[in-house]
Amino acid sequence: MGEFDLIKRFFTRDPQPPAQPGATVALGIGDDCAVLSPTPGAQWLVSTDMLVEGRHFLSTVAPDRLGHKALAVNLSDLAACGATPRAFTLALALPRADEVFLEGFARGLFALADAHGIALVGGDTTAGPLNICITVMGEAPAGTALLRSGAQAGDDLYVSGTLGDARLALEAFRGTVQLSGEDFALARRAMEQPQPRVALGQALRGVARSAIDVSDGFAGDLGHVLKRSNLGATVQADALPRGPALLKQPLALQRLCTLAGGDDYELIFSAPASARAAVQAASTASGTRVTRVGQLDAELGLRLIDAQGQVLPEQPAGFDHFKASA
Ligand code: ADP
Ligand code: MG
Repeated sequence: MGEFDLIKRFFTRDPQPPAQPGATVALGIGDDCAVLSPTPGAQWLVSTDMLVEGRHFLSTVAPDRLGHKALAVNLSDLAACGATPRAFTLALALPRADEVFLEGFARGLFALADAHGIALVGGDTTAGPLNICITVMGEAPAGTALLRSGAQAGDDLYVSGTLGDARLALEAFRGTVQLSGEDFALARRAMEQPQPRVALGQALRGVARSAIDVSDGFAGDLGHVLKRSNLGATVQADALPRGPALLKQPLALQRLCTLAGGDDYELIFSAPASARAAVQAASTASGTRVTRVGQLDAELGLRLIDAQGQVLPEQPAGFDHFKASA
């Protein structure tokens, strides 16, 4: 199978799924460029994320889950900015044209794309070590994008969903923890099939003052907001929401996984105390659990406290690809 057959067979959809309201694709795959029509009054939000085997995913992952995750981590960035997803491109390096892999990968990818009403509008395909690079494009009314820099001292700090299950799965794969079959399946699903919080992000436009998605761990990613907003934060470490599998683990492991786990793809966001009802409404409207975990302070630095208000001495760091992992 040649490059063009591969693109036609696995990535060109004929007929295209029905266009969504507000669809912006005037021309998709097949020419030198895709042609997109912006919604009047909107701004475009664009983000790219690359997945490399052995670094971002294990070779044991099922192809359909990999297709899902490659798009999910990108949609998570749009969610963090409150954008409405519109289209995406896919650049793919493959060791060989493995039909079983490609069929599964495309199935997982398009299932998530269809759930969000977005079309694959182009890309690039080459032979090489497995590497998946997606660029997503979304829109938001001009001036409404949620940014890392918008937080203010005194804001409440929130996190969506639960944290730490992806790291728990990684520890189980490494053999450092033993999980029951059911708990392992739960944690593994969180690691391999994260659900980007797109609906919540959009519902938070005009409500939240700042937002970021958690890809490298809560503490590290919150640190980016603090730096951009020139603030500090006080967070009740054990208020960070965790799922049933992680709750069975020792407290030290719970804290490591929730604070420094990574791969969570939840949203951290801040909002003024006057917006508590509006945050609750956004949570309900999007069907996404939201937990208040602390507040932003004028005093720089991240202070982690326990349930008694005592400051915790240890602060697990976020993941950095060019340093040792946490
Ligand atoms: P060019 O050489 O002009 O850059 P290509 O020959 O690489 O174009 O690609 C032909 C068409 O197929 C283009 O429209 C391109 O966007 C699309 N395409 C290539 N690879 C992919 C892919 N993996 N997924 C989606 N579209 C792709
Ligand atoms: Mg060309």
